[in-house]
Amino acid sequence: MGIAAAAFLGAAGVWYWRTVPERTQLSETKEALGDVIYRVRCSACDHEFEEPAASYVAKLGREGMPCVKCGAPKAWRVGEAGDDPAVFRDEIQAITTTDDLRISIRTAQADYDRLAAEFAALPEGADPARRAEMRRQLAGLRAKLQALHIRWDELADGGH
Ligand SMILES: [Zn+2]
Repeated sequence: MGIAAAAFLGAAGVWYWRTVPERTQLSETKEALGDVIYRVRCSACDHEFEEPAASYVAKLGREGMPCVKCGAPKAWRVGEAGDDPAVFRDEIQAITTTDDLRISIRTAQADYDRLAAEFAALPEGADPARRAEMRRQLAGLRAKLQALHIRWDELADGGH
């Protein structure tokens, strides 16, 4: 592939990387925490679990919320449900050419854009279970795109 195309994709990746956290923050401050689920990890026993955001906030003490496994009040939010990039590691490491990777990035970005538009069109407060599931999928696609862009840098560096 041409250098110009690679540079373009790289720039698009940087643009994406910078704007996503802002979008997320905006939507989080605008909405109630009702349909947000956090990924929480205990610093005492390393157990990771999910906790609805409103419940997490209610249970949060000085050193964290109580761990559901060991009971120590040392569990902290590490992300949003579904956003763990480790989930995609094997799938993405199996991609070995920039051509295949470009297709994967375009597909994941199109999925994200379509789902984000669908989510934005949902009336607030309606169908919380569906909103929670869509948030989980959006968080998963954000994590996947991050992992794909990291892979892009790895493959692009090796291809010079
Ligand atoms: Zn624990």
